[in-house]
Amino acid sequence: MAVLRRSPILILRATAALCVVAAVLAGCSSGAVDDRGGSVPVTAVADDARTVGVAALLDRWTSALRDNDDAALRSLFDPSADPAFVDREVARAASLQDVPLSDFGYEIEPGPEVPVEPTLADSLDATEVWAPNVVLRYAYQDSDIGPTRRDVALVVARRGDTWALVSDADVPQYARTTWRGPWDFGPVVVRRVPTGSTTSLVIGHEGQRDFIDALAADLPAAVDAVTGFVGIGWSRRAVLVVAGSDAEFTSNANGSVLTDVAASTIADPVENGLVTGQRVVFGPTAADRLTDSTRRTVLQHELTHVATRSITGEGAPLWMLEGYADYSGYRGSGLTFEQIAPTLAAVVRAAGPPRVLAEDSDFAAGGSRGAIAYESAWSACAFVADRFGEPVLQNLYRRFAAGPVDPTVRDRAFSATLGIGTAEFLEQWGAWVAEQAGAPA
Ligand SMILES: [Zn+2]
Repeated sequence: MAVLRRSPILILRATAALCVVAAVLAGCSSGAVDDRGGSVPVTAVADDARTVGVAALLDRWTSALRDNDDAALRSLFDPSADPAFVDREVARAASLQDVPLSDFGYEIEPGPEVPVEPTLADSLDATEVWAPNVVLRYAYQDSDIGPTRRDVALVVARRGDTWALVSDADVPQYARTTWRGPWDFGPVVVRRVPTGSTTSLVIGHEGQRDFIDALAADLPAAVDAVTGFVGIGWSRRAVLVVAGSDAEFTSNANGSVLTDVAASTIADPVENGLVTGQRVVFGPTAADRLTDSTRRTVLQHELTHVATRSITGEGAPLWMLEGYADYSGYRGSGLTFEQIAPTLAAVVRAAGPPRVLAEDSDFAAGGSRGAIAYESAWSACAFVADRFGEPVLQNLYRRFAAGPVDPTVRDRAFSATLGIGTAEFLEQWGAWVAEQAGAPA
């Protein structure tokens, strides 16, 4: 069979999307921006009136989008609004009709006052201009446990008593961005797929219909395969997003610029054990770069990240997260060591067995360094499963995946789960890899 070519980077990204604006703009002076772009003091009463007025505007915006009410939607824009902004809203209202949503709405969040770009404020000649901290709150029907929230870089203006939409354009100088969902990138194709005892979702666009159908067909078996490895303690459902462009891939990966990547899994920070905003996002070239076999492997890999998200913390070593997901991805594939880890095998035959685990920075390196990082991480987990059993590998994951691991903690984790310290682990793993690669230990 053909040599299996692997996707170089498949990274679990946990994002705190709601913190970006607040963190960057902390310390900005408080106050509304008047029609000359200057900062003016605001009273509590004025703040309340402003918030009430804009909240009502956001409610009308939500209703018009959900009802696909063209006239109602067009009435919400300030005369100064870019016609392209109006057209985009009309188009996304139409696209949203095909999306199974259990929740969708805009809300104002408390936070530091955000400045309005002075030239924009100047040009409006409005009574008042405001850049409220707005998020889009949404959830997919049956496939999300609760809503997720994403930033909207909204600017609104008041003329007399009437608030209206001015812009949702990104404002890089104030670190404001508007998250764009699949419906912002054209008409959507949606597949709802029964998995476990619930429903998974695949969403993308007409240009990727074949790939969307293939993922939908793969999903039930992939969910079962991951459950067979990690157990039934996860939701057994997922939302897969197939991006039609690099811009859509970046937006749906929460702003991470992903090049040379087939897929990425994102999620909100875990709160009270609940995971929201989990999305497996496939890039625009995934359909071309994945075969039937590698597509299933990548899907199982990403679903493993989804399944383990609630026990996976920020800063955990990537060799454990990616090695475990790759082990799960290849589990049951029947592929040999040489087929799964060709780059590592060649290096080991030429230069001897590995002596160190891959560093986090190796995984993003791309090229052979990135390939070796993934293959090395997979081999570490495959070694543990082979010599100690899969239940021990599960315990090892729980020990390492909760957060950052320093050398002392690492040594203790290996000893507690395998009965050997780090040095002994590295030696035994290296010998196993050499044996598998047909190289002298
Ligand atoms: Zn991964």
